[in-house]
This record gives sequence, structure tokens and C-alpha cells, in this order.
Amino acid sequence: MSFVVPAPSQVSVPVVGGDDLFPVHRIYCVGRNYAAHAREMGHDPDREPPFFFTKPADAVVMSGAELDYPLATSDLHHEIELVVAIGKGGVEIAEDDALGHVYGYAVGLDMTRRDLQGEAKKLGRPWDTGKAFDEAAPIGAIQPAAAIGHPTQGRIWLNVNGSARQDSDLTHLIWNVPETIAHLSRLFRLQPGDLIYTGTPEGVAAVGPGDTLEGGIDGIGELSVSYRA
Ligand code: MN
Repeated sequence: MSFVVPAPSQVSVPVVGGDDLFPVHRIYCVGRNYAAHAREMGHDPDREPPFFFTKPADAVVMSGAELDYPLATSDLHHEIELVVAIGKGGVEIAEDDALGHVYGYAVGLDMTRRDLQGEAKKLGRPWDTGKAFDEAAPIGAIQPAAAIGHPTQGRIWLNVNGSARQDSDLTHLIWNVPETIAHLSRLFRLQPGDLIYTGTPEGVAAVGPGDTLEGGIDGIGELSVSYRA
């Protein structure tokens, strides 16, 4: 037996400290998970349970990549985020058990075609065109929790062409990692290889062709990507 068209290759992310790779199964993302970002997007952060959207696994691109400015947008936004890498699957995972399902952590960018997302919101349509496009999920190498533990604080920041755009701290997450895993696993059967982009702090803004994005989270790592001029 053989495939009738070329088979997609397994998407993976390098693990810090060796040649190991983390295979990517699905990408889940949390919306509005920092109060100041919810406010800058025009929402009340205090009354909303967490909600989720997804990106395809092959939206992953590694830190260091040079990217094409995406199709069909003139308002591409950066969202620097803590990424949780799931090592052990499950459903209806209790908050107290949630960290036992985490393999590690990384720094990621939830790149967003804000113009298309805004149009979708206005028309009550899905967010896919705004969020789930090619190369929409840059990520740095994964730090195993076995090496760094489970960070609950640490500066999270993003610079564009050397100028500060986003600068916050993981302590400002509305829904922390165990709470996020508990909520998400009531909706989906989590599997080893799942990535969870946990939401972005305030300061989101547009980037254009020729821009370089550098970001990081203290204790986890850094990431950089640039867009071709
Ligand atoms: Mn986001």
C-alpha cells in the first residue's frame, strides 16, 4: 500500500539539551487570558470563563526562521505567549493532577491576522482565517519540566526591531496552567504532543515585512523570527 499523494511529515519541536524532538499533535490556544489584554481588545476580563481556538499542527515554525509576510492581511499582530507541551493525555483532568500531564514549556507567538479576525468577530464567523494560517505559530525549543519545574512567574516580553512592545509577567495570567488544562480537557481528549498557547499580555500591535521579532520568558527561553522585506 502507498499514499496517493505525498504524506504530510510529522511536525516536531526540538527539546533543549540534546537531539530529542517533541512531536506536535494539535495546537490549542486560550483567548483573552491576561486582564490588560482583554481590556485593550474591548472586553471585560472579570466575567469570562476561558475559551479556546485551535491552529493546525503544521502552523508551527521554529525560532530563527525567516517568514513570508502572510497572505490576505494588512494587519498582522504579534502575541507573545507561554506554551505548554502536553506529555500525557487525558480527559476531565483535575487541577490537582494537571501538572503531571505537562512535558515542558516553551515561548511561542500566536501570530494573528487581526483584520480578518476582527471581520469574523463582527460577522459571528469562525476565527480560523485570523488565527489558523500558515506559519502562524512560531515557537522556541521546549524546556522539559523535569529540568525547570513548572514556572508560575517570570517576565514575558516581546521586542520588534529592538523596541519594546509587550512586557508583562506570568503572574498576570487570569487562568493558570492547571486551570487551563482542567478546562480544556473537559472539551477535548488531550493527547501527548498537544501544545497549548496560553494567551498574550497587553501590547499587541502590527508587524510588517522586514520586521524582526524577539521575545522571551524568564526561566524558559527566547525566540526570534523575522519577516522577509
Ligand atoms: Mn493569543
